[in-house]
Amino acid sequence: MAEVHLDRLRKVYPDGHVAVAGASFTVADGELLVLVGPSGCGKTTLLRMIAGLEPISDGTLRIGDRVVNAVAPKDRDIAMVFQNYALYPHMTVAENLGFGLKLRGQPRAEIARRVAAVAEALGLQSRLTSRPAALSGGQRQRVALGRALVREPQVFLLDEPLSNLDAKLRLSMRVEIARLHRQLGATMIYVTHDQIEAMTLGQRIVVLDGGVIQQIDTPMALYDKPANLFVAGFVGSPAMNLIRGTLQCGDGWRLAGAHGELLLGETLPDPAWQAWRDREVVLGVRPEHLQPAATAAAALAGELEVIEPVGNEVFLNLRFGALALVSRIPPHALPEPGSLVPLSLASGRLHLFDGASGARIGA
Ligand code: ATP
Repeated sequence: MAEVHLDRLRKVYPDGHVAVAGASFTVADGELLVLVGPSGCGKTTLLRMIAGLEPISDGTLRIGDRVVNAVAPKDRDIAMVFQNYALYPHMTVAENLGFGLKLRGQPRAEIARRVAAVAEALGLQSRLTSRPAALSGGQRQRVALGRALVREPQVFLLDEPLSNLDAKLRLSMRVEIARLHRQLGATMIYVTHDQIEAMTLGQRIVVLDGGVIQQIDTPMALYDKPANLFVAGFVGSPAMNLIRGTLQCGDGWRLAGAHGELLLGETLPDPAWQAWRDREVVLGVRPEHLQPAATAAAALAGELEVIEPVGNEVFLNLRFGALALVSRIPPHALPEPGSLVPLSLASGRLHLFDGASGARIGA
């Protein structure tokens, strides 16, 4: 296995479109790194540059000790799994798994050994003589994954490999990939637009937007300390409540905006926030940090519009001026729809962002 190192990797398409604007990061040997971002953010382009399927406009790409900018895809010692994997319909599962090795002229005994090992790891032993048409969607996906695994490459590249599967299958395949990753100790780069998939699978996550890296961190660090407004809004479901206004201090601190006034208390949660007094900011509050409270302890009152029960918890959809807010609460003692609900903020868990640049303020 190998480390993958990107140094200011850049992609400008012939029409002038900058798809990746200088990406720098290192994927550690044996790490599972996820690239995530909305449609069009450049994640597939970045992965295809690593695979060698897309020429690199500028910057340096290293796999292991070798700079591979000018190395052909087949000589990079990588295997890629795509969203639209195509299995050979006329071949059995075993033949599909072994085909790449056969092309590379591997001896038959070696092919048989590797196919058997991969089939066992993926639970496909009983299907080795079946053709793809006789397999379920999840089994086909596992064969596609297996074709990459038998190659025993230095690096695995996976581009939305689960997006064709139904929700339940995605969940089990996700666990499968995490298990395989642990078992193989393989270096993997995994692309998805699904932030939940990114959070549950990645050891570290690279968040991309508009071809620019927004943050590289562990899932919990992204959740607890988003570096800017984009990451704050992208990671987490339901999304973080974002409330724009001016930070004011008179009789205590407050956030004044189009929605009305929100009370922050006698002191600010973070002294660094004081420098933003009388300036435009965006307050970020995760739904679990906005809770129904006694009127005396409330920071604001929201009109309850819709209650969404999901079983183990409930989402309250509230209106605060022109703003829609969400609170996540345990499934008991529910207020009535239409009522005005006093809400408190978990003071130590709030986020503040510069209203102009969107950058995080304070720790
Ligand atoms: P998705 O999740 O929709 O696949 P993505 O994040 O993988 O999106 P890319 O496919 O990497 O995005 O595309 C990044 C940007 O580059 C997009 O704006 C896209 O329109 C543009 N792009 C992709 N291929 C080309 C091309 N051949 N010529 C010009 N622009 C391109």
